[in-house]
Amino acid sequence: MRVDIISIFPEYFAPLDVSLIGKARQRGLLDIRVHQLRDWTHDVHRKVDDTPYGGGPGMVMKPEPWSEAIDAVAGSGSVSGEGPPRLIVPTPSGRPFTQEVALEYAKEPWLLFAPARYEGIDSRVMAEYGSRLRLDEVSIGDYVLAGGEAAVLVMVEAVGRLLPGVLGNAGSVADDSFAPGTMAGLLEGPVYTKPPVWRGHEVPPILLSGNHGAIARWRRDEALRRTVAKRPELAARLDPQSLDKHDREVLDDASFRVPPEDMAN
Ligand code: SAM
Repeated sequence: MRVDIISIFPEYFAPLDVSLIGKARQRGLLDIRVHQLRDWTHDVHRKVDDTPYGGGPGMVMKPEPWSEAIDAVAGSGSVSGEGPPRLIVPTPSGRPFTQEVALEYAKEPWLLFAPARYEGIDSRVMAEYGSRLRLDEVSIGDYVLAGGEAAVLVMVEAVGRLLPGVLGNAGSVADDSFAPGTMAGLLEGPVYTKPPVWRGHEVPPILLSGNHGAIARWRRDEALRRTVAKRPELAARLDPQSLDKHDREVLDDASFRVPPEDMAN
């Protein structure tokens, strides 16, 4: 996958040289290119912001440097003949970034991120590129960061670890919280490693039993209990038809009422 990032703080992306994503880059699985937005300014101060029309506090990012930068980067060749990149603009008012969105982006050959600073980018840039490229305005949560760079780091890491060959054990993606599949809609339960007893705390004996069927059942029970305890709104969205008799007993035990199977849909 190719990833381009245009920012006034290219140095912010140093963490993309580290750990899993850094190794994926070294191995050629991820081609990440970071660009300085100010390279597309033409004044001595390399100005990228101006006062907002209509007044008010803060500054707004000017459309000209962004459009020149996006045109230059998006026009810099296609990835395996697949056309222009998907343009992703982080903003608190965007579509929520979820594991589902990460999985969707992981199928793209080329992503272009446009993280803003100040009060954001002049809205005409989104109007222009919304009609020319596939554009997503995306939020990583209901809070406000000082800039979109941290949001891009979050998204690149979430997407990057889903790419084939990036994780040592591809199976760990399937067990993740929010992953589709048999554990869909459930948070991952607790995990343990050696030693079997630490400061008096024992690892649940079932995990030492070698009984893979019983361990899988225990993990699902724990995932159900954790989801009810920590994210009841997720538990409420579980598909009743995906729950077997034992699941229903566990949920009942956790005082969580699931609708009967025949009420699904
Ligand atoms: N005044 C803007 C608003 O309330 O929507 C917030 C601007 S914020 C100070 C500057 C930039 O940080 C945004 O344009 C966006 O790029 C980024 N940003 C801040 N919070 C974000 C979030 N929750 N998700 C994604 N990007 C965010």
